[in-house]
Amino acid sequence: MKVRIQKAQCVGNARCQAVAPDLYPLDDEGYIDTDGFAPSAAQQKHALNGAKACPERIIFVVENESGEERQLWPPIRA
Ligand code: SF4
Repeated sequence: MKVRIQKAQCVGNARCQAVAPDLYPLDDEGYIDTDGFAPSAAQQKHALNGAKACPERIIFVVENESGEERQLWPPIRA
C-alpha cells in the first residue's frame, strides 16, 4: 500500500492528523508535511482512516497487486 498526498491542495484543517497523528504530520502552519509514505502492514488501516478523514480528498491510497495499482481511496467514479 502507498499513500500519496497532493500537498499543494491541503487546506490545513488537520482532520487527517486527528485520526492518525503518527502518520500525518503537520508543519508549523498546520498544513500536511508529507507528500506520501508507505505504511507498514500494521499501519495500513490507520493510514486509510486518515485518508478518509480528509474532506478535500487529496490523500490517495493505492494498493499494488502483482504490479498493477488499484486505488482504494478516494473511490473512483465509473
Ligand atoms: S485532512 Fe486533508 S486538508 Fe486537512 S490537513 Fe490533512 S491533508 Fe490537509
